[in-house]
Amino acid sequence: MALRGTLSSSGVRPPTIRLVADTRDDARTQVLDEARALDEADPLAPLRAMFSLPNGVVYLNANSLGPLPRGVARRLEQTVEHEWGEQLSASWVHGDWFDEPVRLGDRIAPLIGARAGEVLVADTTSIALTKLVGAALAARPSRHVVLSSTDNFPSDLYVAAGAARLHGAELRVVEPGDVRASLDESVALVALTQVDFRTGVMHDLAAITEDAHRAGALVLWDLCHSAGAVPVECEAHGVDLAVGCTYKYLCAGPGSPSFLYVRQELHDTLANPLPGWLGHSAPFGFELDWHPVDGVRRFMTSTPPVLAMAALDAALDVFDGTTIVELRKKSVALADLFVRALDASAAPDLEVASPRDAGVRGAHVALGHPRAPALAAMAASRGVVGDVRPPDLCRFGMSAPSLRYEDVVLAATVLAECAHALA
Ligand SMILES: *Cc1c(COP(=O)(O)O)cnc(C)c1O
Repeated sequence: MALRGTLSSSGVRPPTIRLVADTRDDARTQVLDEARALDEADPLAPLRAMFSLPNGVVYLNANSLGPLPRGVARRLEQTVEHEWGEQLSASWVHGDWFDEPVRLGDRIAPLIGARAGEVLVADTTSIALTKLVGAALAARPSRHVVLSSTDNFPSDLYVAAGAARLHGAELRVVEPGDVRASLDESVALVALTQVDFRTGVMHDLAAITEDAHRAGALVLWDLCHSAGAVPVECEAHGVDLAVGCTYKYLCAGPGSPSFLYVRQELHDTLANPLPGWLGHSAPFGFELDWHPVDGVRRFMTSTPPVLAMAALDAALDVFDGTTIVELRKKSVALADLFVRALDASAAPDLEVASPRDAGVRGAHVALGHPRAPALAAMAASRGVVGDVRPPDLCRFGMSAPSLRYEDVVLAATVLAECAHALA
């Protein structure tokens, strides 16, 4: 009874989530009471009101597509109707459309521990990766290997292999634990994703970066599962290069542009392998030769996706009044509570596949179940939305801005009931 009808903030009984088990069970009631106390005291609780969330749904899939910030629709309307509709082409100048890639990069910078002028919003993650892998290989001409690991996002491996081929180099893929021991003088670049998209296991970014530098290699981190959820500290750890998408924890919407980070000290030595007019020092000089503009903007190739950038700009408002450290603190607490609520429910066949130690875990919790797709579908039909990574993992993203502690306890209870139903 304790858990019944508690999902909706409006006090209206939610349409989809129904708990069928006897919920007066002591351990679970205790976790729920704790969740409510945490919600009461949560300094980030007001952020939830910045999102448009369907009633009766616990959305745990920001690791795939972040939920919709309310400000996005308003901002898009303004950009479309006023800047595009009325100002027309003058908006390239008056609306500062040209400067958006750098200005938005500066808004993302504090979330990844970068300095102003080091982050550019452009392209998609895969294209940004192609460019930075090429730039790194060209900067280490006597070396011919891009080193990565089997836990990387497979598409990153396809991209890295393709980019390496274009530069007469090759991709070497080793087990995650073997990366540091595989560093030798053939390695030009170490390219890894910080958080394993399946298990949430997090690489030791500082140690790998340091070892790679000692071996004379550059380092590129894919921050798709970090940006907006896990503090990265690019500057402090001397990270050379990074890419990341903005449609996951940054909530900028489907297909929103990626960001790329190039350490300031490398701006003059790395060359954009896909030089385009918008990275030219005089884009409207129409010279026959390419001369890079100063700074990170030289990594721009083509015309920015202005509408998608307007959505990103509005989405980043969510992060304005907080810090990545605060967000991470809540995300860890959400994940810990979720895991404890699952433990308390003793659900059959359901196990925590992510590290229990938050220090080596990203922002999602993966659960193993022999019928993961069926489990995820059943939970989704009851309003608990995560996703599946076949064959046997379900993922649940612990996104601090939009989630309440009570949500994750409720989600754990529904998942446990689904596991019982499937047993
Ligand atoms: C989501 C994700 C991508 C997405 O790449 P796109 O080019 O936007 O399709 C890339 N790498 C990782 C690690 C991801 O999680």
